Amino acid sequence: MAEPLGELTRTHTCGALRPGDVGANVVLLGWVHRVRDLGGLLFIDVRDRAGVTQAVFDKDDEALMAKGKRLRSEFVIGVEGVVRRRSAETINPKLETGDVEVLVKKLTLLNEAKTPPFPIADDTPVSEDVRLKYRYLDLRRTRLAGNMILRHRVTAAIRRYFDTQGFLEVETPILAKSTPEGARDYLVPSRVHAGEFFALPQSPQLFKQILMVAGIDRYVQICKCFRDEDLRADRQPEFTQVDVEMSFARPESIFNLIEPLMHDVFAVIGKTITTPFPRMSYADAIAKYGSDKPDLRCGMPIQDVRELFRESSFKVFKDIVGGGGTVRALVVANAASYSRSAVDGIVNAEKAQGRHLLWARRAEDGTITSSFPKAVGEEAVRALLDATGTANGQLAFVVAGEPDATSKTLGALRLTLAKRDNLLDPEKFEFLWVVDFPLLEWDEEEKRYGAMHHPFTSPLDDDVALLDTDPGKARAKAYDLVLNGSEIGGGSTRIHDAAVQGRMFDLLNISADEQKLRFGFFLEALEYGTPPHGGIALGLDRLCAILSNESSIREVIAFPKTATAVDLMTSAPSTVGPRQLRELHLLPRS
Ligand code: ASP
Repeated sequence: MAEPLGELTRTHTCGALRPGDVGANVVLLGWVHRVRDLGGLLFIDVRDRAGVTQAVFDKDDEALMAKGKRLRSEFVIGVEGVVRRRSAETINPKLETGDVEVLVKKLTLLNEAKTPPFPIADDTPVSEDVRLKYRYLDLRRTRLAGNMILRHRVTAAIRRYFDTQGFLEVETPILAKSTPEGARDYLVPSRVHAGEFFALPQSPQLFKQILMVAGIDRYVQICKCFRDEDLRADRQPEFTQVDVEMSFARPESIFNLIEPLMHDVFAVIGKTITTPFPRMSYADAIAKYGSDKPDLRCGMPIQDVRELFRESSFKVFKDIVGGGGTVRALVVANAASYSRSAVDGIVNAEKAQGRHLLWARRAEDGTITSSFPKAVGEEAVRALLDATGTANGQLAFVVAGEPDATSKTLGALRLTLAKRDNLLDPEKFEFLWVVDFPLLEWDEEEKRYGAMHHPFTSPLDDDVALLDTDPGKARAKAYDLVLNGSEIGGGSTRIHDAAVQGRMFDLLNISADEQKLRFGFFLEALEYGTPPHGGIALGLDRLCAILSNESSIREVIAFPKTATAVDLMTSAPSTVGPRQLRELHLLPRS
C-alpha cells in the first residue's frame, strides 16, 4: 500500500554519500535495486540515476524490519537514516558509495511495482524489442541511464562552445515546406487548407540559409530532422543534428570552427584529440580506401600497381590495364594467422559475390607463394610484392578491373580483415575531412543528375565552367567529417547567387515552374543581398554512439523507433478514427 510523499525531501542522491558523511541524517528517495535478506539482517540497495547506496535494517526494530521485508525490486521508497561506515569486510569497492551505508530509521513505501519483464539491477542481455516496449525500464538500467547522462553533457558542451563563438541558437519550423536532402518527406495534411500539406523538415537547410540573408551571421541549432527512408540498419526516421551556418565562411572557416568543438566534445569522456584533422579528397578516399568515409584506424591503404602490369606477360592484367582498368592491392602486415585455408576462405567468399581476388605472400623465410597462374612467373609476383612493400610474413590481396570497383572490393575486404584481426581499436579516434566531393551524381534510373550533397552546394571556383561542358566532372565545395569510418557530419559552401542557384536547378532538371513552386521564396530571398555563406550539420546521435562505444544509435536515443520505423512503446504509427480523417480531408465527408 503506497504512502504519501508528505514532507519527505531528498537530502542526497544515491550516488553521493562518502565516508565524510558518516554521522549525517539523510533522506534517500529512489527504487529498490536489490534486496538481500539474510534473516536477521536485511540489506536494501537504493537506486536513483546517480548511483546506488546500501541501506541496512536493524533487527532490533521489529516493525521496521517487517516493513522492510515486504520490499521487492523496483518498489519506490524513501529511506531516512544515519550514515555509518561499513565494516571492513563489507566495503564494496565497485560502488562509489561502497564505503558507507545508511542505517534505516524510517522507511516510506511510496509505490509498489510489478515484477519487471527483465532485471534492472544487472546487465543480462534482453531482446531489443522487449527493451523498446518497456523503454522506461531500460532507461533505469546503468547502460542507458549512462548514455542519457553522456548525451546531456555532450549537448551542454556543444551549446557552451557555440555560445563562446558568438553563435545564436535559432529555432526553425517543424511544420515546414519540403527541403530536398535526398529522402522522402513526412507530410502533415492541413485541416484548414484542404488538400494542402506541410512537410516535416529533412533538415533546416533553407531556413538556415535564409537566416544568413537575415543577417543572423552565425547560427546553430540542435534540431530534429525527419526523413522517410527505407530504413537501413542504423537509421532513424527522426534524428538529431547539430545544425550550423555561418556567413562569409570558406570551408577552412568551418574546419577551424568544428575541430575545437570536437576537442571539447571528446573532453567530456576525458579524451584529448589531435587537431587539425587530416584532409583527403573524395577521389583519393575512394581510390585508397574504397569508401568516402574511410576508417583510418587500421592502415592497409589500397595501392595502385597498374604500371607494373601495363607491359606484363600476364595477358589478363595487361588487357585490363590497356582498357583503362587497373590492378590494386592491399597488404596484410601481420599475416601469421592467415593459413592457406583461411586465405582460400576469403577468396571463396569473394568469388561467391562474383569477385575475383588474387593473393601473393612472402613467408617468414622469404619464400614466395601466390594464387597467380604459373604463366605470370615468379618474377612478376616478386615485383608486385616489392612494389606494394609486402615484406616477409606479409600477404597481399590483389584485384584487377574498373578502378572504382577494384577499390570498393578491396575497401570492403579491408574492413572485414580489420574486424577479423581486431585492428579497429575503440579507444582510438581517427578524424578525417573528406573534401572536393563531386557536385552531381548521375541517376541511372531517372536518367538525370542529382545533387551529391544537396542542390544548394557551390561548385569549386575552378570547376564552374564545367557546369556547361561536363557537369559530371564538376567538384563541389562540400566536405564530410568522418570519424572511425562513420560520417558524423557534412556540409558545404553554398551558392549565394540566385542566377547560379537557378542554373543548378536547371542541371538537376527541375523545371522553371517547379523551381518557382518549390523554391520561389528561397530564390527571391537570395536576391536581397545574400552574403557568401556555408555550414555543416553534425549527426548528434552517431557522435554520442561513438562516444559511448555503442554500435547502434538507438542506444543513445531515449525513445527510438525500430529498424522498421515503429515505436514499440506507444505503438506508433497507429490508425486514427474516420472523424479525424474527414477533418483532414483524407476521407470524403459523408
Ligand atoms: N543540410 C545538410 C544535411 O542535413 C547539412 C548541411 O549542408 O549543412 O545533411
